[in-house]
Amino acid sequence: MSIAKKLKSSLLSSLLNKGPLFIAGPCSAETKKQLLQTAHSVKASGAQVIRAGIWKPRTRPGKFEGVGEQGLEWLAQAKEETGLPITTEVANAAHVKLALEYGLDMLWIGARTTVSPFAIQEIADALAGNDIPVLIKNPINPDIELWIGAIERIQAAGITEIAGIHRGFSTVEKFMYRNPPIWEIPIELKNRLPDLPIICDPSHISGNREFIKLISELAIGYGFNGLMIESHIDPDNAWSDAKQQITPKELEIIISQILSFNKKG
Ligand code: PEP
Ligand code: MN
Repeated sequence: MSIAKKLKSSLLSSLLNKGPLFIAGPCSAETKKQLLQTAHSVKASGAQVIRAGIWKPRTRPGKFEGVGEQGLEWLAQAKEETGLPITTEVANAAHVKLALEYGLDMLWIGARTTVSPFAIQEIADALAGNDIPVLIKNPINPDIELWIGAIERIQAAGITEIAGIHRGFSTVEKFMYRNPPIWEIPIELKNRLPDLPIICDPSHISGNREFIKLISELAIGYGFNGLMIESHIDPDNAWSDAKQQITPKELEIIISQILSFNKKG
């Protein structure tokens, strides 16, 4: 085993030690230009990690399902140009293998994957021997045991840096939010796993850019360790989740206000 493989990952903890962690970028990488422009802009807004989905788990078929492997090249270029770590969603062993090959710094597991112990186990097996930080979204249904089960499977693969991402839960009735936050579930997770950092994803909770700031501030108020926010240089024309993406300028306002509250506190 190489020395690099023996070393424990410390990227996530060193970022979290500096205060709230802001991960931002488009829902999907669409074109090289869109991704690179967004990456530079979200860096200027204060984000510390760049996100972009390249394999997109769309609820119904027939829509844009991501650019695939070429998006990993664009992400690697975004990392080189901005100096920021990069993350993408993985949903199976092939995704993990490619993401590791292209030097992704962190991986996240989506809400539609966390519901399936088979899928999680496949990802865990593919990760074994590669200590990369993994962010695990809650399952789409409000089942804390499934969420904890996914965390345990990834931990058992030897991953030392794990965080939960709270992205809200599917409901039959849609009122204000696309995925209502049901805050008691991530708060219960925090009680059961006190050492687990939790990041909030206000974009998939809200489904609408009007609520991103409110949910972000609530999450930080509840003691979450960071935010993952979808930001796009031209949100209205985004190829996925257009209604909930915000401009890098709007992102900057949210980040700077949270940082200024935090200083006052
Ligand atoms: C995403 O982050 O773009 C995504 C698909 O999220 P979720 O798994 O929360 O639906
Ligand atoms: Mn999205």
